[in-house]
Amino acid sequence: MDFKAIIRDIPDFPREGIIFKDITTLLKDAKAFQEAMGKMIEHYRDYDIDYIAAIEARGFIIGTPMALELGKGFIPIRKPGKLPAETISVSYDLEYGSNRIEMHKDAIKPGDKVLLIDDLLATGGTIKAAVELIEKLGGEVVGIGFLLELQFLKGREKLKGYDIFSLLQE
Ligand code: AMP
Repeated sequence: MDFKAIIRDIPDFPREGIIFKDITTLLKDAKAFQEAMGKMIEHYRDYDIDYIAAIEARGFIIGTPMALELGKGFIPIRKPGKLPAETISVSYDLEYGSNRIEMHKDAIKPGDKVLLIDDLLATGGTIKAAVELIEKLGGEVVGIGFLLELQFLKGREKLKGYDIFSLLQE
């Protein structure tokens, strides 16, 4: 199945010059969504993992079916101020300004093996911050998975030494 043709390009969103990869067209196509998730799940079937962590909000859509099918617990990584219990946070730079993501302090114990999931790898800033959160709590990032990787933005270069998988590349 040609997943890349099903994901829609939206030019100049959220601002001029960005081609936004809109996965809602894939999510809406039951067969495409099922098949894409099936491939993500099969890739990680034999990994030794304790939890799947994913980044709000599109990462949740990809990460939760994987957690259910692989029989692992799910850990949300969220935007500031959303998680109710005690959190830790990591800030990271964007093209303009900065951003912050948070995780519950008790979500991970030292030594826990975590598979980290997001929908898309662009510059890698967001996922790098998520790796830092997990490692601050003593967790081990055993894999980082994406539905789609924008290779020209070289996000992988920020993630040297980690096991990275993307189902689709552009
Ligand atoms: P980055 O930190 O640059 O790797 O960007 C990561 C986050 O921004 C991902 O979670 C994506 O959901 C979103 N994102 C960045 N660029 C795009 C794009 N061209 N199309 C869709 N989503 C994007």
